[in-house]
Amino acid sequence: MKFGGTSVANAASWSRIRSLMESRRREGGRVLVVVSAVSGVTDALRQLGKCAERGDREAAAAAIARRHRELLQAMQLAEPAGLTSLLAELAELAAVGCQAAEARAYQARTQAFGELLSSTLGAAFLDANGWPTRWLDAREHLCATALPNQNLRTRMLSAMVAPVPDPALAAQLAAQGDAFITQGFIARDGDGHTVLLGRGGSDTSAACFGALLGAQRVEIWTDVAGMFTANPRQVPGARLLRRLDYEEAQEIASTGAKVLHPHCLQPLREPRVPLLIKDTNRPELEGTVIGPEVRTHAPSVKAISARKGITLVSMESVGMWQQVGFLADVFAYFKTHGLSVDLIGSAETNVTVSLDPTENLLDSDAIAALATDLAKVCRVKVIAPCAAITLVGRGIRSLLHTLSDVLAEFGHLRVHLISQSSNNLNLTFVVDEGVVDTLLPHLHELLIAAGSLRTDDDALFGPSWQTLYGTGDVAASVPAWWQEHGRERLLALAHAATPRYAYHLPTVLARVRALQALDAVDRWHYAVKANPHPAILRALAAAGCGFECGSPGELRAVAAAAPDAAGLLYIPSFAARGEFAFALGTRAVVTLDTLYPLQHWGELFRDREIMLRLDLGRDLGDHGTIRGGDSGKFGLPLDQLPTFLQLAQRHGARVAGLHAHAGTGVLDADHWGRIYAQLASLAEHIGSVSVLDVGGGLGVPAHPGERGLDLDALGRTLHGVKAAYPQYQLWMEPGRYLVAEAGVLLARVTQLRTRGKLHYLGLDAGMDCLIRPALDDSWHRIVNLTRLAEPTTVQYQVVGPICDSSDILGRDRRLPEAREGDVVLIAQVGAYGKAMASRYNLRDEADEVVIE
Ligand code: ADP
Ligand code: ASP
Ligand code: MG
Repeated sequence: MKFGGTSVANAASWSRIRSLMESRRREGGRVLVVVSAVSGVTDALRQLGKCAERGDREAAAAAIARRHRELLQAMQLAEPAGLTSLLAELAELAAVGCQAAEARAYQARTQAFGELLSSTLGAAFLDANGWPTRWLDAREHLCATALPNQNLRTRMLSAMVAPVPDPALAAQLAAQGDAFITQGFIARDGDGHTVLLGRGGSDTSAACFGALLGAQRVEIWTDVAGMFTANPRQVPGARLLRRLDYEEAQEIASTGAKVLHPHCLQPLREPRVPLLIKDTNRPELEGTVIGPEVRTHAPSVKAISARKGITLVSMESVGMWQQVGFLADVFAYFKTHGLSVDLIGSAETNVTVSLDPTENLLDSDAIAALATDLAKVCRVKVIAPCAAITLVGRGIRSLLHTLSDVLAEFGHLRVHLISQSSNNLNLTFVVDEGVVDTLLPHLHELLIAAGSLRTDDDALFGPSWQTLYGTGDVAASVPAWWQEHGRERLLALAHAATPRYAYHLPTVLARVRALQALDAVDRWHYAVKANPHPAILRALAAAGCGFECGSPGELRAVAAAAPDAAGLLYIPSFAARGEFAFALGTRAVVTLDTLYPLQHWGELFRDREIMLRLDLGRDLGDHGTIRGGDSGKFGLPLDQLPTFLQLAQRHGARVAGLHAHAGTGVLDADHWGRIYAQLASLAEHIGSVSVLDVGGGLGVPAHPGERGLDLDALGRTLHGVKAAYPQYQLWMEPGRYLVAEAGVLLARVTQLRTRGKLHYLGLDAGMDCLIRPALDDSWHRIVNLTRLAEPTTVQYQVVGPICDSSDILGRDRRLPEAREGDVVLIAQVGAYGKAMASRYNLRDEADEVVIE
């Protein structure tokens, strides 16, 4: 059991360590505890090692002594003799300092005190609390292996241990007791000097002991519940990885996930010792199991990680590239300077490589010396600071087709290098360091949305970090209406007829009320195209909502269901003259978004108030996508604005409002604030404008555990921009947001079949009822309502009855084993479900029922 720095930092943590040891003892195991230094102490010791002045070193040593004595006090322990002598030794080392030639050895010796102190303190605590624990010096058991071409720095501060199972040692310890404690991070070299295993190396110490002793398992106890699909401090939506094989976990660790030291899996592979990662403060959480097990599952991206502090070396050399031996010459310099190369990209006249700081313990002197030498054979450019962003997953090459949105993001950035590992486990992009923090959460969302991270496979992917630790608005923590209650009712509805849509009006009303609570918005217009069911239109009108229509048919539907609605907009696309004439005869405010109507039918708009839909350009569309068409179809480009205004004036049409709608599925609350601000600054030059309509596109998370749109943040943003431009009314047009979650599609299982490795589950509803999965890859949760409580044991391809190869509603869905006639529910289809249904194959259309 290895406990990290924060897990040994206070008395309460030590009590938890004690009870965790006890629980392992109850299982019949003997326990070896490996500890890190108390958090912050290694940093302090590193600082001490660098101080030139004796006084500074002594002050640093005194601060470290104080920290441990305070901890002793909190533990209500008398100072153990071992601790007193360690502190005296450290004080002595600090007083003496070292000669330049011994700097590395001195750093290793002083930094080792962190773990020596924490293990001594821990042993005293466990002894005093009824748990006699034998203290071992890790250096007696872990011996570093000298590697060819290793420089002094690496040998002393980032050493490697290659443990060989030692049954004799295991037997010897077994004879001595049940509980042991030792240090992480430290080992000895062939000459008996203290060496370090690199920052974060205590994980590796634990793994080495696990291999040496043939342990049942190695447990890494830290401050998170396991390895996540991304660094959870950076990406709160990151999902817990329930199980991983050694190779994938290794790849995630070595590409930036600090939760495991990159060298810690290697020692465990051959003896096949499994490794478990757990949270010391939340031991009830399941954690991550890493082991030899190879489970057959569809390829999936497992994680996205990032490493900062990457240095690129670009070497340009016309002509020399084809010469035999050029690369050998170039790489010889890297060897000379003790720098190992990580990623490589090459072209006819250029080779660019990256240096990984974790391996090299880079210092700028080494790089400068390298550059000077390289300049003898080529033109050198050092590019830093960069960051390497890596997608990890076994079989990543077979996932390329799902990565288009992710690749599009990189398209906006300066990408210095792309590298794809030869083991088919990773794909890496090197970009400027500054972009990483904002980019990573966004990429993680895109990976989930595209199904590249198959988070619906719950054997692999656990809850999100936010679900486990956060308080935010998390989809998974709020059960959908059909989960809470109404299962029996839905089953009855399905038994009467399928395929069938069911809409839950209370959910629609809850959503509209949540939006109406944002008082910065003056009027909400529901985008009727999402779902024109009369009951929904009536309920929204009664709640005070206006409507946005895109066709005469929609205008008629609103007139029939909600004649007194609070507001009516007509925003068509490429509508015919006759449709404009029709709309102008209703009470709808008409929106134009091309020059054509004013150029050719200007008299229609004489003395009318119109709105103008603008295309604000790429920037605002970045966060979402309008798929299945060219977004250039919508909105007047800004360079045509002066012409539009002249035409409007010529025909006496007054531009009373500006409108922009960019993107769908937007979860970034600032998006609409930016639109408002941009429209407002345009409106100031137009004069006649009193309304700014910032469109819709409010995102609804589809996957369990994904974060929803933060309405409070949206409210704050809109308040902010309205305060800056208070003279305009603010309108918005939610569609999907109001109705998506309210609707489910009920279908029945028609047939089952297995073909090769794939299991197919056939439904009586297909792309005729619900086209979005085929059309734009939308992801909908699918459950077997008949067997809701049964374990999900089979991975199905869920398909419909249409004779078309696109007729797939869900791929690789883990469901209970199904039988003919089972009722299957497809969730979140209240928007663009029935509205886009067809009679393809001349199948009867799904009917619709409303649950009041
Ligand atoms: P310890 O001191 O216990 O060794 P570390 O700080 O070394 O703990 O490692 C745990 C930290 O690793 C987490 O708090 C988290 O911030 C970070 N981390 C980075 N990437 C990941 C990831 N993919 N999954 C989990 N944690 C990660
Ligand atoms: N104490 C060392 C460090 O801070 C080793 C570890 O904690 O794993 O890097
Ligand atoms: Mg660590």
